Amino acid sequence: MYNVEIILSDLKNELNFNRFIHSIAVSTTAKNLAKFYNINSNEAFIAGLLHDYAKNINEKKLYDLSKQFNINYKNYKFDEIKNILHAHVGAYLVKEKYNVNEKIFKAIYTHTTAEKNMTNLQKIIYISDYIEPFRDNIKNQDYFIKLAYTNLDKCIYQILKSTISYLKKRKIKIYYKTIEAYEFYKKIVKGSENEN
Ligand code: GDP
Ligand code: FE
Ligand code: FE
Repeated sequence: MYNVEIILSDLKNELNFNRFIHSIAVSTTAKNLAKFYNINSNEAFIAGLLHDYAKNINEKKLYDLSKQFNINYKNYKFDEIKNILHAHVGAYLVKEKYNVNEKIFKAIYTHTTAEKNMTNLQKIIYISDYIEPFRDNIKNQDYFIKLAYTNLDKCIYQILKSTISYLKKRKIKIYYKTIEAYEFYKKIVKGSENEN
């Protein structure tokens, strides 16, 4: 269904070298996690490969494309959503280019912020982006890798918690979906802790 050779050669054109390596690493990490949790590993592999498709498009062009795709940022200023644009625009671009299905579209769309009530594919892409072995700016990465293979919801919660604290420290405005996701997964994690 998907031609991986073509996708790889497109990614080589679209992305710088480090981002290309990161994309391959996310695709393998996602494939392994999908196998572990018994979900479609081919979809995870493709979504992982394509998740940062729009990462190296310049900010002005990303913003113009977001308008073309009718993505609505309500009252957010450009600076407040510039980190998120590549995820949203990338999802639309790869849907146009490779006709990816709705599940893959959504996993790419939410890979930066997460959201409440995610599918397993969304969770796996969000987590793989964080735990892939070449990402070098993550503290305690081993802890997150272990958690990914223990409980997806707990892992999502911990990544959201550390991302939010990182953004707060740098006084970067947090997107509402990130906060909604944090509250949602906190409830799930705390709820299951009380049962035991
Ligand atoms: P990457 O594309 O593989 O580098 O990783 P991501 O797509 O997950 O994240 C891109 C950037 O967005 C990172 O610096 C995150 O810390 C940042 N980010 C994550 N959530 C939010 C948010 O809610 N708001 C803003 N402004 N940035 C965020
Ligand atoms: Fe990204
Ligand atoms: Fe990424």
